[in-house]
Amino acid sequence: MPKSPLPPRAKNPFLPVHLCFLAVFLFSAFLTAHEAVELKNNYEERQRAQLADFQKSLDSQFQESLDELMYYQKMLNYALTHPLDSDHAREAIRRFQQLRQQPTWQLQIASPRSMPLNGISDSRLQQDGLLQRDNAHLDQELRAALEFSFIMQFGDPAQDFHSRFWYTSRAGFYISSRPPQSLQELEESYSTMVTRPYFRDQDPASPLHARLRWTEAYQGLFNEGLMLTVSTPIISNGYWYGVLSMDFTQQRIHALLSKARQSYLQGKLLIVDRGMHEITRLSGRHDQALTPEQQARLEQKMREHPAGIMRLGTQFVSWSKLTNVDAWMVNIQSLRQGMAQPLGRVAIFLLAMWLLFVLLLVVSHRVIFRLVRRMDDLSSKLTWRANYDGMTRLLNRNAFFEQFVALAAHNKQQQTPMAVIQLDVDHFKNVNDTWGHAAGDQALIRVAGVISHTLRKYDIAGRIGGEEFCIVLPETTLEDASAVAERIRTRLAAKTILVNSTTTFNITLSAGVTGSEEQGDYHAESLQATADRRLYQAKTSGRNRVCAEG
Ligand code: GH3
Ligand code: MG
Ligand code: MG
Repeated sequence: MPKSPLPPRAKNPFLPVHLCFLAVFLFSAFLTAHEAVELKNNYEERQRAQLADFQKSLDSQFQESLDELMYYQKMLNYALTHPLDSDHAREAIRRFQQLRQQPTWQLQIASPRSMPLNGISDSRLQQDGLLQRDNAHLDQELRAALEFSFIMQFGDPAQDFHSRFWYTSRAGFYISSRPPQSLQELEESYSTMVTRPYFRDQDPASPLHARLRWTEAYQGLFNEGLMLTVSTPIISNGYWYGVLSMDFTQQRIHALLSKARQSYLQGKLLIVDRGMHEITRLSGRHDQALTPEQQARLEQKMREHPAGIMRLGTQFVSWSKLTNVDAWMVNIQSLRQGMAQPLGRVAIFLLAMWLLFVLLLVVSHRVIFRLVRRMDDLSSKLTWRANYDGMTRLLNRNAFFEQFVALAAHNKQQQTPMAVIQLDVDHFKNVNDTWGHAAGDQALIRVAGVISHTLRKYDIAGRIGGEEFCIVLPETTLEDASAVAERIRTRLAAKTILVNSTTTFNITLSAGVTGSEEQGDYHAESLQATADRRLYQAKTSGRNRVCAEG
C-alpha cells in the first residue's frame, strides 16, 4: 500500500466536545449541589428555630407550676421560722401525740379549708435511717404543715398543669393535694414516697440534692402512666424537714404538646427525660424509627449540646433542652416530611430543573457529537478524494509527485538507492474500441490491483495519466526494480479480464525503469523522464516488455 500523503489529523476530534460538555455538566452539578447545601442549611435552621419556639412555649407552662412550687417552699420555710400559735394548732399537736403510735392515722382540723395530715407510727419510722421524729422540730413542723394544708386549697387540679403536689415529712407524715382514699393507700403512698429518688436524693448529705431536682420518667402509683416529678428540700435552720414535690403526668404533657404543636413543625415530636427515656410523643404521618446506632449517636450529641440539629440517614433530628425541666424536646423529620414543606418543594423543583438541564445537555451532546462525526467523515472523504484516484484507488498525479519528491529527499539524505518505474498499457485505445469504455475501466482497475499487490508497504504508486502509472521504490537498486517491473508485467499478462460470461480479453503493459545510482542524483523529474524515455523504447521495440537501459 502506498504511504498516506495526508497531514497527520487531530487525534480525536470528539475530545474537545466531550470535555466541553463534561465541564458544563460538572459546573451545573456543582451549582446545584451548592444550592442544595444552602437549602439544607436553611431547612435545618428553620427546623431548629421552630423547635426552639415550641420549647419556649412548653417551658413557660412548666414555669407557672415551678413558680407555685417555689412559693409553697418559701411559705413553708417562713412558717417553720415563724410558727403560728393558734387553737387549731394546739389541738392538732395534742391529737398528734395521741395518734403517733398508730400504724396509720389521719389528722384533719375541723375546718373545711384544710387537707389531712396522713401519718404512720413511730415504730415504722425506725426502719428507715432517713426518717425520724425529732421532738425539737416536731411542734413547728406540725404548725407549718397545718398552714400549708390551708394554702394547698388554692391549687386547682382542673386548671393546674401539674397533676399533684405534696409535702413529705421525714417525721412520718405527708400532705397531698390528692389525699389518700383509704388507710391502706396512705400506708402504701408514704412507704413509696420515702423510697423514691425525689425524696431520698434531697437528703442534704446526698451529692444529688438540689434546689430543684427532676426525676427520670417513672410509673406513678395511681395508674397515671409515666410521670416526672420535681422536688425541692425543705430545710430550716440547718434541719432537713422533708421534701415538697410536684407531679407532671405524661397525659398532661402530651395534651399540652398537642395543643401547642405548630402546624409547620412536621414529623415526630418527643419529650425525653435526662436518661433519654421517652416521656411522651406526638406522631407525624410517615414517621420512621431510628436505628439503635443512630439513637446512640443522637444521644451522644444531645449530651454535648443543649440544642442542635443533625442528619441521621434520611432524617433530620433537632433537639432543644427545656430550661425548666430536666428533659429535652426532640423533633424527627423524615425526608418525605421535609419534602412536604415549602423548602422541600423548592428542593424538588431545583432537582427537577437540574435533571431537565442534564437531559437537554445529553441530547445536545448527542446532536453535536453526530455533527462532529459527520464533519469528520466528510473531511476524511474530501481529503481522500483530493489525494487518490477514485477508480484505481492509487495516488493521483499531484499527490504522487508530492510524495515522490519527499521520498527522494529522504533517500538522498540517507544515501540509499531508489528506483522509478514508468508503466503504460499497450494498445489501450484498442481495448476501449473493441470492448467498450467500461471494460477499459475494469482493465485499469486490474492493472492497479496487480501493481498494489506486487509492491511493498513503503513503495508508492500513482496513476499519472489515463492508462499511465508510475512507481517509486525506495531503498531499491535498478536491478531489483527491473525484477519488480517484470513481475508486474508477467502477472498482468497472465490475467484474464471478463467482458461478459462468454467473452474475455488480456492486456499487457510496457515499462521503463531507472535508478538513482545509475542516474547519480535523486531529482524526481529527471528520474521520471528517464523512466518515461525507456518506456517509449519498450513500446517501440515491440511492447509487453521492460526496458531498464538506454
Ligand atoms: P500504446 O500506449 O500501446 O502506444 O497505445 P495506446 O492505445 O494505449 O495509446 P494511447 O496512450 O494514445 O491511448 C490511451 C487511451 O487510453 C486513450 C483513451 O481513450 C484511453 N483512456 C484514457 N483514460 C481512460 C479511462 O479512464 N478509461 C478508459 N476506458 N480509457 C481511457
Ligand atoms: Mg497506452
Ligand atoms: Mg498512454
